[in-house]
Amino acid sequence: MLQKSHHLKREANLIGGEWVAAGSGKTIEVTNPANGEVIGTIPDAGVEETRRAIAIAHETFQTWRKTTADERARLLRKLHDAFMDNQDALAELMTLEQGKPLAEARAEIAQSAAQILWFSEEARRVYGDVIPSPWGDRRIMVTKEPVGVVGAITPWNFPSSMLSRKIGPALAAGCTVVVKPAVQTPYSALAWGVLAEEIGIPKGVINIVTGDAKAIGGELTGNPLVRKITFTGSTPVGKLLIKQSADTVKKLSMELGGNAPFLVFDDCDLDRAVTGAIAAKYRNAGQTCVCTNRFYVQSGIYDAFVEKFAQESRKLKVGSGFDQGVQQGPLIDDKALAKVEELVGDARDKGAKIVTGGKRHELGGTFYEPTVIADATQEMRFAKEEIFGPVAPVFRFDKEEDAIRLANDTEFGLACYFYTQDLGRAFRVSEGLKYGMVGINEGIITTEVAPFGGVKESGMGREGSKYGLDEYLDVKYVCIGGL
Ligand code: ADP
Repeated sequence: MLQKSHHLKREANLIGGEWVAAGSGKTIEVTNPANGEVIGTIPDAGVEETRRAIAIAHETFQTWRKTTADERARLLRKLHDAFMDNQDALAELMTLEQGKPLAEARAEIAQSAAQILWFSEEARRVYGDVIPSPWGDRRIMVTKEPVGVVGAITPWNFPSSMLSRKIGPALAAGCTVVVKPAVQTPYSALAWGVLAEEIGIPKGVINIVTGDAKAIGGELTGNPLVRKITFTGSTPVGKLLIKQSADTVKKLSMELGGNAPFLVFDDCDLDRAVTGAIAAKYRNAGQTCVCTNRFYVQSGIYDAFVEKFAQESRKLKVGSGFDQGVQQGPLIDDKALAKVEELVGDARDKGAKIVTGGKRHELGGTFYEPTVIADATQEMRFAKEEIFGPVAPVFRFDKEEDAIRLANDTEFGLACYFYTQDLGRAFRVSEGLKYGMVGINEGIITTEVAPFGGVKESGMGREGSKYGLDEYLDVKYVCIGGL
C-alpha cells in the first residue's frame, strides 16, 4: 500500500511555509476505515498554532493581495497541473484515509483540479463598474477587493474537492487562507500544502492546521484578522460557526446538510430514473450532502421502480476501495454505521419493508449493505434526518402537488432531483421545489462551472462558477468629486 503517495503524505502542519508539529508535541492517529489500521499521525494543534497561522496569513496577505491577477492565475494553473500529474498518488492517499473506491477518488482529484483551473481563469475576470453619475462634477467607480484572511473548515467526505472550491477562489481573489481539515481525512488536505509549496505558491498563502476542532474553529471565528469563514459540514456545526462569527461580523459561506428528495413520476423513462437513482444514492457509500435521502415515487410506477432499483442495488460490489471493480466502500466510522443501523431499525419497527440489504455487510467493519426500503412513511426518522449511508427509503405519492409538498417538507434545501418526460411538469416542479440545485432527469449534477449551494438551513453562498469568486471579494464604491 501507498506505493505512489508516500511523498504526499505529510504528518505535520503547514504554518508560514514551515512544516511543524503541535506546540504540545501531541498527535492524533489517522486510520483506514476499510480495516481500522492506523496509517499515521497528525499534529493535535489548537488555539496557539491557529493564532500563529492567522497572524502569518494576515502578514502574507499584505503582499499577496498586490500580486497581479495574471500572476495568481498562472500559479493556480500550475497547481492544477501538479494535481493532475499526481492524480493516482492523491487518489490512493484519499482511498487510504477515506475509504471511497479508487475510481471515485480519482474522479474527485480530477474535480479538485478542475475547480482550480476554473478559478485560475476567473482570477482574470474580477471586473468592476463605472456607474453613470447623478452629479455632473462627480464620477462613480466600483472595484472589487479580496476580503482578507479566510478560515476554511472542511469535512471528511470529499477531503480534497471541498478544499479546492475554497482555496481556488480565495487565492484567485487575492486572499490568504488558514485551513482546518477533518481529522479523519487530513492527508488529502495536507497534500495541497505539499504541492502548493512545490509549484511556488509563496509561503504563508496557504496554512493548514489539524487537531482540536473546537479550539481551532473558535480561534478562526473569533479572531478579528480572519475576514471570512467558509465551511462545509453539518448544519449544527454551521450554526455554531455563524454564531461565533457574529461578534466580528465575518463574511460567511456555509455548505451545510441536505435531505435530497428524488421524485419519480409515472411518465418518466424508468431505466434512466433507476440509473440516476443508483448514482444519486450510492456515490461515496451515500455519504454526500447531495445524495438522495428520500425517493418519492408515483403510484403507477412505484412497484416497477422499487423492483428495478433493488435489482440494480444488489449488483453493487462492496469492498475495500483498493479492490478492483468495487463500487461501494466502508462507512467512515462506527458512529456513521450506528446512525444507519438506527434509522433502518426505526423504519422496520414502523412497518417499512426491507426489499434488499438492511444490515451490516458480511465483510464486517463499517461496511453496510446497499439497502432499498419500500413503504416508507413521513413518520419514519429518515423523512427528516440525513442518512449519510447506502440506504434508500422509497415513499409513495399520487399527485404532483403532493410530491412537491413532501419534497419541501424539510428545513433543508440543498439538492433535489426529479424524473419526468413531460415538459410542462418539468417547469412546474422545478419552480415549486425550494432547493438551491435541481437535477431534471439527472442524478449527478456537480461541476465547477455551475453554482453549488443551498437555501434554508442548507446554507448560504455558492461555490464554483462565476458566482463562487464574489464570496471572496468585497465591493468598494469610490466617488470621485471636484471634476
Ligand atoms: P460531519 O458530521 O460530517 O463530520 P461536522 O460538521 O462535524 O460534519 O464536520 C465538518 C468539519 O467541521 C470538520 O472539519 C470538523 O472537524 C469541523 N468541526 C466540528 N465541530 C467544530 C467546531 N465546534 N468548530 C469548528 N469546526 C468544527
